[in-house]
Amino acid sequence: MTSILPLDRVREAAQLLSQARKVVILTHISPDGDAMGSSLGLWHWLRGLEPTKQCTVVIPNAFPDFLAWMPGADEVVIFEKDPEQVRLLLDDADMIVCTDFNEPKRIGALGECLTAVLQTKHTHCLLIDHHLHPADFATVMFSYPESPSSCELVYRLLIDLAQSSDYHQFCCPLSLSVATCLYTGMMTDTGNFSFNSNRADMYEIVSHLVRIGVDKDAVYNRVFNAYTADRMRLVGYCLYQKMEIIPEYHAALIYLKRKELYKFNFRSGDAEGIVNMPLQIKDIYYSCFMREDKVLPAEEPLAGGSKIKVKISMRSQGDRPVNDFCHEVFHGGGHKNASGGEYYGPIEEAVELFKQNYARFLQKN
Ligand code: 5GP
Ligand code: MN
Repeated sequence: MTSILPLDRVREAAQLLSQARKVVILTHISPDGDAMGSSLGLWHWLRGLEPTKQCTVVIPNAFPDFLAWMPGADEVVIFEKDPEQVRLLLDDADMIVCTDFNEPKRIGALGECLTAVLQTKHTHCLLIDHHLHPADFATVMFSYPESPSSCELVYRLLIDLAQSSDYHQFCCPLSLSVATCLYTGMMTDTGNFSFNSNRADMYEIVSHLVRIGVDKDAVYNRVFNAYTADRMRLVGYCLYQKMEIIPEYHAALIYLKRKELYKFNFRSGDAEGIVNMPLQIKDIYYSCFMREDKVLPAEEPLAGGSKIKVKISMRSQGDRPVNDFCHEVFHGGGHKNASGGEYYGPIEEAVELFKQNYARFLQKN
């Protein structure tokens, strides 16, 4: 497999990683399989190198239940639950690694702590990510928006570190825990290899990970066949009662208010994948899913005085970008075919914004 990471940057990363004694690994808010896989994969690898390295994965808020089986998931520190511990860890760290996010804003309130530490203590920061337009906050940056997952980038970095650095400790084979974590993110960020998945070398990586011992069928079952009955009923409700089709623009819209979510005992992760479902309909190429996420504390600045944060997700197929829509209308962004954003206010206003703007951003043909 040809290397895509520049050798000089791999060497810089090698130097930082070999010298660091206390490493904090951060990943994005509402972590998905790629966020958990890339951070935990790196964590297992670093711990395997030298048991004396102190290494912690910090996530902004809880991960969904269907990722709880991941090796090391029970050892992550959750900022929302324990902000003081996280502040101490960041203060004490001599290196921070950021995986699967491109700007401090994407880790919520934890982003302010990260920015403060980088500015005041000049802690080394390594970024490994595949989102467009990375902010300039890292010492060494591996940003490849064309990569299907951050886990694939972590894999590539670990292989390049073994082959191209002068540090012998990096020449160890990847453990089953590392391989399982990295496989999980490669699988989830490509919808089990059904989009962004046409490059042959991706399967060379999968082949290597399976040879290490990854049980890919078991990973699939744990992630995709692990829903609660409530979540299945929520999906049924969305598709039967809540899906609006805009045939002219090949688009579908589903939105849920908090009281609807309560009815189905909504838990973190239950909305995962719903946005993709309308794309299974013939001639539907765009899908938008919105839900009222949470009521914010009064002190947070809000548009229009409302306390509701609406989370918007958009998906599309082929050469039909949705990231510009999310960026311009919902202050978000993301990948060409998978983007998201936020709106502060009642969900009806967010829906109205979507309806006022879709003709500008979506293609009729
Ligand atoms: P999801 O719909 O799964 O929450 O997010 C899909 C992708 O959209 C994410 O990988 C991320 O790149 C992007 N995204 C989602 N929400 C936001 C947001 O609020 N701001 C930005 N900049 N990107 C987002
Ligand atoms: Mn990702």
